[in-house]
Amino acid sequence: MHTRLCRHAESDAVDLAAQAVQLGFTEIGFSEHNPMPRDDWDDWHLLQADLEAYVEQVARARREFPQLTIKLALEVDFIPGQEEWIRGLAARHPWDYLIGAVHYVSDSWALDNPHLISEWKTRDPFEVWSAYFERLTMAAESGLFDIVAHADLCKKFCFYPKEDCTPLSTRLLEAVRRRGLALELNTAGLRKPCREIYPGPPIVRLAAELGVPITFASDAHAPVEVGANFAEAIALARQCGYTHSCRFTGRHREILPF
Ligand SMILES: [Zn+2]
Ligand SMILES: [Zn+2]
Repeated sequence: MHTRLCRHAESDAVDLAAQAVQLGFTEIGFSEHNPMPRDDWDDWHLLQADLEAYVEQVARARREFPQLTIKLALEVDFIPGQEEWIRGLAARHPWDYLIGAVHYVSDSWALDNPHLISEWKTRDPFEVWSAYFERLTMAAESGLFDIVAHADLCKKFCFYPKEDCTPLSTRLLEAVRRRGLALELNTAGLRKPCREIYPGPPIVRLAAELGVPITFASDAHAPVEVGANFAEAIALARQCGYTHSCRFTGRHREILPF
């Protein structure tokens, strides 16, 4: 989940935790968009000076809701060349998990940015999807992360390639398995034009065949989105053969039935 410190979400950690308690959750996690090496990189990541405030917000939510287990995490943009920066962030706080995400397929274009949809119209969807999956595979190979974020985010605005993309996602999942990461089932996709969980059934099925563990995420940017559509995510996981998901504490993974 995300707090208003990333500049495109609505609430403080305490408000999201209150909603989770209301809904009967016993465990939640915050994974704010990481600070970038330069604060002027874009306008939707944590500012470097706000990292401590973010950690403090999560600490405050923990104090206010002692009955709720609250995980401290980051969603980290993987951009080739920023590995040292990411290692530095990883060492700054006792994170429970780091989610590796790709939004940027080049230094200047985040393919999911609604203000930059017009960029899609100047590009071949297959080229974009290939670049996206290649970067996400690199992120999985990097050894920096515990979980792969929204694995087919490139479908968000429905620019689907004509070509078969199965080899791209297969390569990704093989890297995910080899490097021991988990795959996130992220319900935010249901709230976007693609109207589908990230990732879709074919990828979840293949992940199950390969024995890749999963997590559940609502990617909430507002209290109303906390735990949104988890029933659908659980149904998808079950249809694909999953009976267990995982959770992380201090970057250590446990597998539990759901
Ligand atoms: Zn966000
Ligand atoms: Zn993301």
